[in-house]
Amino acid sequence: MLAHLAVYGCQQNQADGDRLRGMLLELGYTMTDDCAQADLVVLVTCAVRKHAETRLLGHLGTYLYGGKPGRKVVLCGCMAQREDVRELLRTRYKQVALSFGPADLRRFPEYLNRVMTEGGRHIIASPDTAPIDEDLPVSRIITPELNRANVTIMTGCDNYCAYCVVPYVRGRERSRAPEAVLAEVRGLAEDGVEEIWLLGQNVNSYKPDFPDLLRACAAFDGARPAGYTIRFMTSHPRDAGRRLFDAMASSPRISPNLHLPVQSGSTAVLNAMNRGYTREDYIEKIRLARETVPGLVLTSDVIVGFPGETEQDFEDTLTLLEEVRFAKLFTFQYSPREGTPAAALPGALPPDTMKKRFTRLLKTQKRIEEESGAHG
Ligand code: SAH
Ligand code: SF4
Repeated sequence: MLAHLAVYGCQQNQADGDRLRGMLLELGYTMTDDCAQADLVVLVTCAVRKHAETRLLGHLGTYLYGGKPGRKVVLCGCMAQREDVRELLRTRYKQVALSFGPADLRRFPEYLNRVMTEGGRHIIASPDTAPIDEDLPVSRIITPELNRANVTIMTGCDNYCAYCVVPYVRGRERSRAPEAVLAEVRGLAEDGVEEIWLLGQNVNSYKPDFPDLLRACAAFDGARPAGYTIRFMTSHPRDAGRRLFDAMASSPRISPNLHLPVQSGSTAVLNAMNRGYTREDYIEKIRLARETVPGLVLTSDVIVGFPGETEQDFEDTLTLLEEVRFAKLFTFQYSPREGTPAAALPGALPPDTMKKRFTRLLKTQKRIEEESGAHG
């Protein structure tokens, strides 16, 4: 039996994909890149912005029609945990045989077995407090060109930023045991993996303690003479501070790359977003990080056009970019997600204002990157 896996969205989804591949191989499937040959198609989907959902639903037809007779399609990832999507699957995309959310990945073999033995359709709402996936089989694609591996250290999110769907689809925040994470990292280092990424929606709230975990992850010998590098994503500015920066500076094996999504440069918007820090807090953290971590490389995310964002709020974001000078910036136009507090807020921006601000944001960042490139 041949299985085809298609992963959309973030690095967390890539990591979930590695575990789904691990489980599929354990179940006796052979993986294929050729969807047309597959007996089983597994889609790992993203729901963070409307655009991602629309695109996936646009592609879905190509997965559902044609291909091998009797081919089964499984939809998982964040979209699968949304009630409106489940409704669409029930009423419109009736060829999807199985769907379940990202919070109980470990039950995939059991769910798949149900599909194969009972037939029919299984559209499952995953419990959001399912025990964390501790020791699932993982099958990573590691090549000499892309010698890197993702290690999930926690799942879910309890932050409830006003715009964000993640807490509703990935469930409550749960951390893996440090011993399990360390065993996995040690194994990868000993296998000669060059870059090991520790992943979570907010790694700073890893329990019991993220800076300690980071230091412990950097303490192995590894197989490569050049050693290995530990990177991590994502940090929340509210929870990142001196202990994290000290840990980053403590070992050459810990990458000086810090992705610290600011979202906005306006304290009023940050408050409305429920981010838990001010513009000044953020700038002060960056000052401390730069002072503490030699060669710090700082990247960030910004959302343009959160409901009620005034021209002055937006200007504040531009001046923050000038002040902080990120090496790279991921920019998003605000996308209302049903069920989040922000979706019910008044003050939606007219589309042309949104576009104009977005263009100005891109231009500002491009100039900053060019200037930094020119001046080293
Ligand atoms: N846990 C991470 C990543 C969350 S999703 C974090 O806290 O940073 C990745 C990025 O998508 C976010 O940082 C945010 O900039 C963006 N994003 C999330 N929801 C969004 C929405 N509804 N509209 C536009 N961008 C959004
Ligand atoms: Fe979403 Fe905020 Fe959690 Fe990040 S920290 S996943 S932006 S709710």
